[in-house]
Amino acid sequence: MDRIKRDYVFHRDLKKDYPIITHGEGVYLFDENGKKYLDACSGAVAANLGHGVASIGDAMAEQAKKAAFVHTMRFETNVLHELAETIGKMAPDHLNKVYFTTGGSEANESALKLARQFHRDAGRPQKHIVIGRWQSYHGNTIGSLSAGGDVKRRHAYTPNLLNYAHVYSPYCHRCPYGRQKDDCLAKENLTCLTDIERTILELGPENVSAFIAEPIVGSQQGAVPPPPGYFEKVRELCDRYEIVLIIDEVMTGFGRTGTNFATEQIGIEPDIITFGKGVSAGYAPLAGMIVHDRIINGLIQNSDGKFIHGYTYSGHPVAVAAGLAAMHVYDRDRVLENVNEQGPYLVDRLLELKQKHSYISDIRGRGLLIGMELVRDCEHDQLFDPSEKAAETLNGIAMELGAVFYPGTGSIDGIKGEHLIISPPLNVTKEEIDEMVNILDRAFTIFKEQLRK
Ligand code: PLP
Repeated sequence: MDRIKRDYVFHRDLKKDYPIITHGEGVYLFDENGKKYLDACSGAVAANLGHGVASIGDAMAEQAKKAAFVHTMRFETNVLHELAETIGKMAPDHLNKVYFTTGGSEANESALKLARQFHRDAGRPQKHIVIGRWQSYHGNTIGSLSAGGDVKRRHAYTPNLLNYAHVYSPYCHRCPYGRQKDDCLAKENLTCLTDIERTILELGPENVSAFIAEPIVGSQQGAVPPPPGYFEKVRELCDRYEIVLIIDEVMTGFGRTGTNFATEQIGIEPDIITFGKGVSAGYAPLAGMIVHDRIINGLIQNSDGKFIHGYTYSGHPVAVAAGLAAMHVYDRDRVLENVNEQGPYLVDRLLELKQKHSYISDIRGRGLLIGMELVRDCEHDQLFDPSEKAAETLNGIAMELGAVFYPGTGSIDGIKGEHLIISPPLNVTKEEIDEMVNILDRAFTIFKEQLRK
């Protein structure tokens, strides 16, 4: 690759060159030198059906030839209706209306605004503060960044961020509130829950518009599911104080955790579910939100049916055609069944690795969203210093060996665990899981040698 072509790209790390991918097939990506990478994280947990699915490409091409763009302020398309209906039917009972955006950040931004408009038009104009959780990521736009807790990304923009509040999300393996897991759960008195109520009361419920959370914490802590009962209590608090509950399923939606939405597993009905990534399996920039009838009825009664918001590319015909074709593949290939078969197998194989490598302190997750906490020494529970970039280094070694994972560093004091997310395409086979685990095993061995130097 000649230098000139690279010189024109404003990459987010201007000092790095990345392999140039020419094509993909199934769980594999191939670079211009013919090197093969097993995509063990579906890119950014987005390429949920793997690479090179011809039927999705064909559907997009067909739609582009028919009508590539119509402005949804004036027109609609059948593909838009069909995809919305499919998603609405997958969602919990009273969440039916689907609003499309191009990415997860925009989806969350839309949800935060909708909550605010819903309250304002219902005669609660003071409600404007959002409560988010520190170990969370909701996107990079100012609103979604303000609601999320990625300290590294927030820091440069702190003066520009909105005055939103944050609590810690439950991480029983390394409780941010310093509680002991068994004690906490046995007494049914989770500090992470009492802190939510304390925060609401401190802000004044009349000021709180929404609470936003990922059902299973993704990139900020590495696939951490909630303790039993947590979200039921969150739902109760939101009902008690008239707070819109937004569940961010951008990473977890569309079968990733073993059910269509992870919300099914936490047993509650949110007011808004946001989604992204898996909706088009990464074939087109597509995301959105599914909205509870209560909010829709509020808009009809109090706002003349109008949501004061919108994007040029909302419901873009080619993107929704990709989404619809992806839904057919999820269904045709019984992808959910595969997730529930391969997920436990992946966990078993990773637990074998944990026996072998003292760097793994915790393996958790649901379905094919699995996280692995990395420590310097498991026996003495010694954390890596974030400056060592342990997860990034391990992933770099794995990439050399031909597999790519999703590394992350918690950025909150006291719970700065390094982690890897392992989230292959949802149609992965056992043999492919064996291959990725074997590469990870070899990567740990090289990692150990490097640390000794
Ligand atoms: N929400 C969650 C849970 C995510 O994981 C992400 C992206 O990683 C986003 C929101 C933002 O989505 P996007 O990068 O498509 O804007």
